[in-house]
Amino acid sequence: MKLKIAIQKSGRLHDDSIQLLNDCGLKVRNGHNQLKSNAEDFPAEVYFLRDDDIPQYVEDAVAHIGIVGENVLLEKGRAVDVIEQLGFGKCRLSVAVKKEDNYADVSFLAGKRLATSYPNLTQQFLNENNITAEIHEISGSVELAPGIGLADAVCDLVSSGSTLFMNGLVEVQTVLKSQAVLVKSKALDADCQRLLDQLLFRIRAVKKASNNKYVLLNAPNNSLQKIISLLPGMKSPTVLPLAQEGWSSVHSVLSEHEFWEKIEQLKAAGAQGILVVPIEKMIL
Ligand code: ATP
Ligand code: MG
Repeated sequence: MKLKIAIQKSGRLHDDSIQLLNDCGLKVRNGHNQLKSNAEDFPAEVYFLRDDDIPQYVEDAVAHIGIVGENVLLEKGRAVDVIEQLGFGKCRLSVAVKKEDNYADVSFLAGKRLATSYPNLTQQFLNENNITAEIHEISGSVELAPGIGLADAVCDLVSSGSTLFMNGLVEVQTVLKSQAVLVKSKALDADCQRLLDQLLFRIRAVKKASNNKYVLLNAPNNSLQKIISLLPGMKSPTVLPLAQEGWSSVHSVLSEHEFWEKIEQLKAAGAQGILVVPIEKMIL
């Protein structure tokens, strides 16, 4: 009995997917020249696929779970369950027009030709806005379409926007925000579900750890109380006496999003020698 996991064979999600599985203790060799590979140390088999095919494989339970972008998942409309957002592969599906166009609002698109690899999501977006436009489905290099006269605008994936910029396009409207998600087949037997629960437990521990840092600092005892109040920690901070009289070492965990602000406050409260260390796994 093995958990069958579908990930992208090569492309933008491949490395992060492998990394996540490795961090969860599933050693997977990358699949450049193979369709599947056995994980070491966990009863799992990894399938390397085109990302477009992953929703179908999971719907059909050929793969029990998969890692795929929400953009692909929603475009394909397959019946699978999303279990976890994974925090990588972040991008948005956006409408972009030529930079010389006077785009005021979506009504600009009425009667225009839109090039996209996401015809369903684009059509849905047009419907929601009561716009009739022509959709040209193309499978790659969508951003070239306006320049060669194939379309007036595009609906394409964007992360930094530099590809659009290089092709004389500007992003005017976000259709969908996306990131990689873990999906599962609707028909998992109890054994698969048990393995999935184990993996999910590990994924959550890895995600949590990557959002947190371990902080160690020295504090004069007379400002300990103030410093402790700034550091809630997992339960409460660890406080150890230093060899030097009147000083303590304080250890705690800080979340990424409040990190810089807290460091400022800790320094202002008299903390010195602040060390920040990555956390590998975090189990609450
Ligand atoms: P495949 O050969 O597997 O079909 P692909 O060419 O369709 O690959 P990639 O370009 O590797 O796909 O992108 C895979 C996924 O990465 C996208 O579907 C999206 O979820 C995510 N992604 C993140 N940032 C971007 C971006 N700037 N452009 C395109 N995709 C992005
Ligand atoms: Mg693809």
